[in-house]
Amino acid sequence: LKEHNARSMWHPMAHPADSLANPPTIVTGAQGVRITDIDGHEVVDAVGGLWNVNLGFSCAPIKAAIAAQLDRLPYYSTFRGTSNDAVIELSEELRRFFAPDGLTRAFYTSGGSDSVETALRLARQYHKIRGQAQRVKFLSLKKGYHGTHFGGASVNGNANFRTAYEPLLAGCHHIPAPYTYRNPFNESDPAKLAQLCLAALEDEIAFQGANTIAAFIMEPVLGAGGVIPPHESFMPGVREICTRHGILLIADEVITAFGRTGSWSGSRHWGVQPDFMCTAKAITNGYFPFGAVMIAEDVAQVFEGDKTGAAAIGHGYTYSGHPVGAAAALACLAETERLNVPENAAARGAQLHQGLLALAEKYDVIGDVRGGHGLMCALELVSDRAKKTPIDKKTIGTLQEVAYRAGAMVRVSGANVIMSPPLILTAADVQVILSALDQGFAAL
Ligand code: PMP
Repeated sequence: LKEHNARSMWHPMAHPADSLANPPTIVTGAQGVRITDIDGHEVVDAVGGLWNVNLGFSCAPIKAAIAAQLDRLPYYSTFRGTSNDAVIELSEELRRFFAPDGLTRAFYTSGGSDSVETALRLARQYHKIRGQAQRVKFLSLKKGYHGTHFGGASVNGNANFRTAYEPLLAGCHHIPAPYTYRNPFNESDPAKLAQLCLAALEDEIAFQGANTIAAFIMEPVLGAGGVIPPHESFMPGVREICTRHGILLIADEVITAFGRTGSWSGSRHWGVQPDFMCTAKAITNGYFPFGAVMIAEDVAQVFEGDKTGAAAIGHGYTYSGHPVGAAAALACLAETERLNVPENAAARGAQLHQGLLALAEKYDVIGDVRGGHGLMCALELVSDRAKKTPIDKKTIGTLQEVAYRAGAMVRVSGANVIMSPPLILTAADVQVILSALDQGFAAL
């Protein structure tokens, strides 16, 4: 299998520092929060698949729902004038979950990149219908990650994900993220930094011309960029600025929706109602490629009241509203609610965060510890704490490899060690992750 993988697969996203990806770790089985590989290692998956396997790998109700749906109606889309009963039932559930956030309608996709693309496209349509066709630009955060399609890549804040594909969508601009450890303002106080970043957003809007901007897109907690939670004033500040300038707010919750931050959504975590909320990943617990863009009621009404025909300009996918995905998502939401998964994410996330802070007391190589908002945490590693020099690739690779042998799979990205374990994690599982990291750091 290892040889065949090398000759017949392409792994463009394998990070060079990722020792487990070079060559790829071949996963052959998974149960609960643990995976097994081809060499017989069994480890806690502290990456949770790719931030998506919130309920672990043996969620019986989702498996049963998928099997039953395959028997009854394996496929019909919501693309061209049709719907299906499974997806209508799911929509009513999503409406129940997200109505407190003002989000009442769902549009279905096949994953996170599709959800982002949908929100960007719908944002432009929205302004066209309202006679503001000049509102075409998008603003986003540096260090934000919004997927791989051309629109999403254009708003990605990390140049590594953009440059190879340029020219990208015109009119996309990035403002500094509220990243306390490193920022252009040299400001380490989170509240003050949030105000500086908001001022930078105001400046960019003034520079571009508010009436040329369609939407601002952000992750409520930056994920792939290194788990960067903003100060609590930041997202409400963004909401206020967007509203004042007629700019739509797109919350990219592909990671944060469905409990990861300890709330049902990252937006709710910060008390913000976005205009669009992009979801995917954990909506089916990783069991089916599926996503939903939740749309605010007042935005949906603009589309419905359209007299210009702009709303009739096609947008949809062959797999929009896939009934098997819908059945998986329905079962997943029911389990998430029954097990009160967001609450466990908050408790276990606090435990993991405390443990990581304790490791930072012990090991100078840990420059920054980020977490405290559910089960998404990161360590930023440095070779010199005072100078904040990023650690070299070989060292972070060694840490990852030793931790894996000691029982936990973590992700490395640049100088960051990222953890996003399943939300059903137990206190004992948290200890396994911490102990594996401890052994990894001791080995450096
Ligand atoms: N948005 C965010 C915030 C993400 O983290 C990701 C994936 N990591 C995406 C969009 C893209 O999702 P997908 O990989 O399912 O296309």
